[in-house]
Amino acid sequence: MDLLHELLTGAPARIDAIVDLESLSALESELLGKKSLIASTRRGLGQLPPDERPKVGAQVHEAQRRLEDLLAARRELLERMAEDRLLAGDRVDVTLEGYEPSVGRHHLLTQTVDEVVDIFAGLGYRVASGPEVELAWYNFDALNTPPTHPARLESDTLYVEYGEEPDEMLLRTHTSPMQARYMEQHEPPVYVVVPGRTFRADALDATHSPVFYQIEGLAVDEHITFGDLKGTLAHFAREFFGPDRTIRLLPNFFPFTEPSAEMHVSCFACDGSGCRVCSGSGWIELMGCGMVDPNVLEAVGYDPQHISGFAFGMGAERIAMVRHGINHIRHFYENDVRVLRQFT
Ligand SMILES: [Zn+2]
Repeated sequence: MDLLHELLTGAPARIDAIVDLESLSALESELLGKKSLIASTRRGLGQLPPDERPKVGAQVHEAQRRLEDLLAARRELLERMAEDRLLAGDRVDVTLEGYEPSVGRHHLLTQTVDEVVDIFAGLGYRVASGPEVELAWYNFDALNTPPTHPARLESDTLYVEYGEEPDEMLLRTHTSPMQARYMEQHEPPVYVVVPGRTFRADALDATHSPVFYQIEGLAVDEHITFGDLKGTLAHFAREFFGPDRTIRLLPNFFPFTEPSAEMHVSCFACDGSGCRVCSGSGWIELMGCGMVDPNVLEAVGYDPQHISGFAFGMGAERIAMVRHGINHIRHFYENDVRVLRQFT
C-alpha cells in the first residue's frame, strides 16, 4: 500500500512532463500494464486475509481510476496541441506580400501601329492588309512608276523572282501596292489604312533598316481636295503628338501622287523654337503624301473625272523614334526587354 501511495504521489508530475503521445503511451503501459504495480497488486489480492481484501481492492481500483483520468486528460491536451501545430503549419497568411506575375506587353512598334490605326479608325477608315511578296505591277506599274525609275533597281528593291515586268516578284518596298489592290476590289468611296512590313535593300544605320513598318492611308471619294488631306493630317498630328501641334506641307515628288508633299509637324519638344529633337528647325518631317495621281485611279478602273483622293504613308519606326527620343532604329529589332519595358 505504501508503494501504491508513492506511485500516486509521483504520477501527476511524471504525466505532466510528457510532451508527445508516443511517450505518453509508454508511460501508460508502465503505470497500468500487465507488469505494473497496479496489476501485480490486484493479482496479489487473493493472498490477503479475506477481511482486508475489499479495502485493498477498493484502493487499487481508486488508484487505477485516478491514473486513467490523469493520462486521459494529458492525452487530450497533447492531441489538441498536435492538431494546433498542424493547422498552424497549413495556415495561409493572406497579409504576406505576393509575387507580381510577369505580364507581357505589346512591342513598341505594335503599340505605335495600333495607335495610328485607331486614330484613323476614329475617322471612319477601314483597316486592310496585303501580301509582303508582291508583283512589280502593284508595287510600281499600277502606281505610275515608270520602268526606268531608279527605285526599281536591285540596289533599292529586293527581288524574289525575276521575270517579264510587270510579273516580277519582289518584297514590297512600301505599303502603297494595297492602294491599287484595294481599289481594284472596292468601288469608291474608299477610306482605308494599311499597316504592314516593307523591305528595301538598305544597309542598317541609325535611321534605316532593310525591314521596317509602314502605315499607308488612302481616301478616294467625290470632291476630295488637298484641303481634306491637310485637315486629315493635322488631325492626326494633334491626336498623336498633342493638341497644340500644327503641320506644314512642303513640295516633294512621288510617282503615284500629284501634287506630292512631305508633311512636317511642329516640334512637340520645343514648340517650334528649335531643339535637338527637331535639329534646331522647329519642325519634324513625318511622312510623304499627296493627291492620288489620275493615272493610278485609271489603272484600277476609276474615273478621275469624277473621283479624286489623297494618300499618305508614314514609317512606324520613324514616328516612334521621334516621339520617344529613340536614337537608333536597331532598338526596335534587338528586342532587349530592358529597352522595351520602358514603353508601356
Ligand atoms: Zn524642337
